[in-house]
Amino acid sequence: MKDTNKERILFAAFEAVPFIKTGGLGDVAGSLPGALNRLGADVRLIMPKFASIPQKYKDQMVHVADFYMPLGWRSQFVGIETLTFRGVIVYFIDNEYYFNRDQAYGYYDDGERVAYFSRAVLESLKYLDFSPQVIHCNDWHTALIPAFLQGKYGLDIMKAAPGQTEGMPYSSIRTVLTIHNLKFQGKFSGYMIGDVLGFSQLEAENLGLIDGDAVNFMRSGLSFADRITTVSPTYADEICTDFFGENAQDIFNSRRDVLCGILNGIDTKALDPETDPMIPEHYCAADAWLKVSDDDGDGSYETSPCVPEGKLRAKEALQQRLGLATDPGKPIYSIISRLTDQKGLDLVVAIIDEFLQEDVQLIVLGVGEHKYEEKFRSLAGMMPDRVSSCQFFDEPLSHMIYAGSDFVLVPSLFEPCGLTQIIAMRYGALPIVRETGGLRDTVIPYNQFDGTGTGFTFANYNAHELLFKMKEANSIFHNNKEAFAGLVAHALEQDFSWDVSAQKYLDLYRELI
Ligand code: ADP
Repeated sequence: MKDTNKERILFAAFEAVPFIKTGGLGDVAGSLPGALNRLGADVRLIMPKFASIPQKYKDQMVHVADFYMPLGWRSQFVGIETLTFRGVIVYFIDNEYYFNRDQAYGYYDDGERVAYFSRAVLESLKYLDFSPQVIHCNDWHTALIPAFLQGKYGLDIMKAAPGQTEGMPYSSIRTVLTIHNLKFQGKFSGYMIGDVLGFSQLEAENLGLIDGDAVNFMRSGLSFADRITTVSPTYADEICTDFFGENAQDIFNSRRDVLCGILNGIDTKALDPETDPMIPEHYCAADAWLKVSDDDGDGSYETSPCVPEGKLRAKEALQQRLGLATDPGKPIYSIISRLTDQKGLDLVVAIIDEFLQEDVQLIVLGVGEHKYEEKFRSLAGMMPDRVSSCQFFDEPLSHMIYAGSDFVLVPSLFEPCGLTQIIAMRYGALPIVRETGGLRDTVIPYNQFDGTGTGFTFANYNAHELLFKMKEANSIFHNNKEAFAGLVAHALEQDFSWDVSAQKYLDLYRELI
């Protein structure tokens, strides 16, 4: 029987794990709906049916409906298929012309593909046994939904839910737009206004679509969504400034009252050193505390922190696998990242020669800009027993590196949330981060007076501030083993599950319903 008290949310995303992933959006869309359902909501996911979705999922899909819908002057086919994955009903929009492609993005007609998907999401509500109260849009790919909702569906009615004679009006739907990446806004030639979106120039202006001579999907969504969220509280503040705002700061400032930041969680079941099949020996936070004495004989033991045995095994296995000197006494600093300017690699490159004069090891796992790949490859060539450069994408190796490393560098220029530092802490590797965006909100800086903290942080985008922190971390590793182990223990104890953040999204939906 239908539970009418449940919040009905349609989560619209262009990618979701485990069907297709290119970045953080895929992780969020793959895990947040399930976390919300566990809190009692009825959240369903809708996404394109890409050719590259693994066959085992395609085999489970069931046909729901098909129809033709207008897109500018076109009449386009829309198929809807569905499956249930880990308790979440997922709808797939099927159209061979737009989605029978291996990648999610990067095609000459991305603007048209995205417009098609946004329109198809709304049109589907005339055929689904599900009338959402809120559509949760994500990034520019679904940022057109609020504009279409207002400009094309003002008078339309959704399909009546089972047991009801009348459907809900589209005008009752509220929208949330979450920014995962503000750099990409969906900016295209103005010809799309009439040709693809089917709006007049005046309508496009009224719907906030115009950006100079172009159309800008994200600006429209940011102007018309009922709520805007981004993936950390600090980044929500930062995007109101000229430096971080990517030319949308005017909207953020004028809509500050509907903008908030909610931190991403991670899938703590898939990323768990206690059960991870990709690491040699399992460990958990409890292994980071040693019972030391029972001085008064009352059965209560003092504890002191220690690096878990399983983590030391992982370090040894990692050093052996990558051909580094096998020595637990040598601290490992790692980078697991896209090698781009955003990730602060120019800072690393500026100081790495000086830092490598210390007795340390460096591991880089990542692909990206040639200048960075070249630098790390040449360092690995010169010092093969101290530097390893792995220039490919390798999920299992990344787990080994998180488990085996002592420190993970994330000195980003900007970082909406960032997963690397969260996963590092989850595996007891201490992040060294710049205080920006989600890095600032997730890493607790080491406090030398009371020993608290989960990593090391620095404020300014300055190579020597990074170097100073790396040297401080090095000194603690060598000279204050108890403080180092205490930080590892605190990092392992942090709760990065979706529980807290999912509740915040649910509260946000409730404000709108
Ligand atoms: P972004 O989404 O900006 O790239 P995040 O920190 O949010 O950065 O997420 C990066 C994710 O990709 C992390 O889970 C990280 O472990 C993973 N990752 C990055 N590069 C690689 C790689 N070469 N091999 C395996 N995993 C990688």
